[in-house]
Amino acid sequence: MRHKSLIEPNSKRLVLVTEEVLALISSYRQSGRDDCESGGILMGKRRGEHFEITFATAPQMKDIRSRCRFTRHPNGHQEIAENRLKSSNGEENYLGEWHTHPENHPTPSSIDMGDWKRLSKFHNVPLLVIIGGIQTFYFGIVIESRVHILKECTLL
Ligand SMILES: [Zn+2]
Repeated sequence: MRHKSLIEPNSKRLVLVTEEVLALISSYRQSGRDDCESGGILMGKRRGEHFEITFATAPQMKDIRSRCRFTRHPNGHQEIAENRLKSSNGEENYLGEWHTHPENHPTPSSIDMGDWKRLSKFHNVPLLVIIGGIQTFYFGIVIESRVHILKECTLL
């Protein structure tokens, strides 16, 4: 399986994201003027301090979607996550959240920052976040309510 490799430069945590996950997020890219935001959850494996994102849920019926806002409803996502957890024998767990922005090179809004900090407090483990822009992605990791940017890197 092909991956993109990311690193948080200070803690040296590594995050691998499969091309399938990036392709799913890219398929919801807001390149049209009226396209709404999309989003879902990220799932995969925790390997010690490191992560591998292997799966993302697509937007579901009950999500609230507009041009500049995405509010995920638990319905749908939760069920898919539970099935995935079962079929992977407990190996693939909830890792975080993704959503899209109608900007070429996305940056988190203050609402995103607030949401992520709340989530990180609630789950009490590091969480991964991805924003899919029109041209590029934003990758982040939320550790103890602090958001750190993940940089792309090459694994030798
Ligand atoms: Zn956002």
